[in-house]
Amino acid sequence: MINPYKYVKKDTYQMYINGQFVASDSGDTFDIVNPVTNEVFAKAYKGGASDMQKAITAARNAFDNGPWGSMTQLQRSKLLLKVRDVLARRAEEFACLEGLDCGKLYPSVLYYELPQSIDGFEFSAGKARCLEGKVNPVDGNYLNYVVWQPQGVVGEILPWNGPLMMGCQKVASILAAGNTVIIKPSSWASLSLLVLASVFDEAGFPPGVVNIVTGSGSVVGDVLVKSEDVDMVSMTGGTPTGKHIIKSSANTVKNIALELGGKSPNIVFDDVDLESVVKWAAHGFTLNSGQVCVAGTRLILHENIYENFLEGIKKYCESLKPGNGFEYEKGINLGPVISKEHFETVWDYIESGKKEGARLITGGEKYTSQELAKGNFVPPTIFADVTPDMRIFKEEIFGPVLSVSKFKTEEEAVNIANNTKYGLAGAVFTNNIKRAHRVAEKLKAGQIYINTYFSKGIMESPGAGWKESGLGNAGIYKYMHPKTIFVDLDDNSNPPV
Ligand code: NAD
Repeated sequence: MINPYKYVKKDTYQMYINGQFVASDSGDTFDIVNPVTNEVFAKAYKGGASDMQKAITAARNAFDNGPWGSMTQLQRSKLLLKVRDVLARRAEEFACLEGLDCGKLYPSVLYYELPQSIDGFEFSAGKARCLEGKVNPVDGNYLNYVVWQPQGVVGEILPWNGPLMMGCQKVASILAAGNTVIIKPSSWASLSLLVLASVFDEAGFPPGVVNIVTGSGSVVGDVLVKSEDVDMVSMTGGTPTGKHIIKSSANTVKNIALELGGKSPNIVFDDVDLESVVKWAAHGFTLNSGQVCVAGTRLILHENIYENFLEGIKKYCESLKPGNGFEYEKGINLGPVISKEHFETVWDYIESGKKEGARLITGGEKYTSQELAKGNFVPPTIFADVTPDMRIFKEEIFGPVLSVSKFKTEEEAVNIANNTKYGLAGAVFTNNIKRAHRVAEKLKAGQIYINTYFSKGIMESPGAGWKESGLGNAGIYKYMHPKTIFVDLDDNSNPPV
């Protein structure tokens, strides 16, 4: 087994502002905790309002006056490729740190999240050189063209469920678009992003182009959102935080992009191969212990397969082995949730499911072994006969908890699926190709899977949240704004009289 602690520093992890590794002005720190054991294994400086203000000033100056603003897209692209190379060289280190900080399964970080993070830079480096404008045919002797330009200073506020992968993918797009950035990680998962600063440093980014400030959302996040010097704020996180940011950003009318929560439906018709779909359905809600925004947490089963499917998925979930994700050689394939606090939130939902009369199929009881009880392990929990009035149907739990409902007709399945304030993702499993496309078309969500679960191209084909799942389209143009230009081509032009 690899020893991940060999990559952990004894010194307190510093923030990265204006090309310098710095302590917080206050000297305050916070603990970095391993969710497998709840042991503190490192410390990081906790930023405050003054630290965030310094980062904003640095990012503003780097955009307005630094070399970054006058670089060509080719030069920026080459810097992004250097980041890719350094990250690829240090993949094991980042997989270890992310695994320790988030309790993730080591193979899944090393072989999926790291390659995705690296690819984020590679893809964006290419994209930086392929930005497209357009020419509009307007009436008269005019040339009218539209170009895309960077927003300027972008604040990127991140959640804790996939900080490195999400952070890399978003920051790569932000930089490829020509912006400068201030990254604000979640306090529950800051480590990999703090260390990512050294990758930008080694790649040779000019000071102030990338800044990383830790601290609480309500303090440093709030300064970022309210600042007149920040042109855009992009936040991935919960819907309540997104609503708060809409209000707190209002005074500056800045551009905001929000990627928020979900409660995604997964519809299974009665013409499928049960054995294979059972595995997809289980994977859809247990990956990363259910801490995935697009997780398929509402399973909607045709009545003809209902009991058999429940039996199959129960058996599958009971075969999962919780534990330390670095001990993958022992068959460990289920990690903990991020923190004690989040564990309690997930547990409240499990109790509410029981109280509201859903039928418990599996899970629902805490692990009692000393080893698992130390950490934040939640057994995959399945409730059947869930109705739309129950909290476990309506609210995002963000843990391995599945709500199962039954349908008879296609129309009923779509109605149950769309009966939610969220609109992030959804899936349909059927061998009837016409029905598959018909249902996909009717689902009110930004990303749909047919006969599979989860995206197969996050960079190439990013989803966008509908309804309360988000605001703004994804991709590099999200971090840019269009400018339309009119050129008078007439030699003797005069204004109309
Ligand atoms: P969260 O909303 O609690 O926090 C997200 C970030 O916002 C954190 O960095 C936090 O410090 C910051 N924040 C909190 N209050 C703030 C404020 N007042 N001003 C500015 N920033 C503030 O979310 P979380 O618990 O870290 O992450 C889980 C949530 O993220 C889930 O709802 C999940 O669905 C969502 N998520 C969505 C996507 C997506 O692509 N749609 C991807 C991953 C996670």
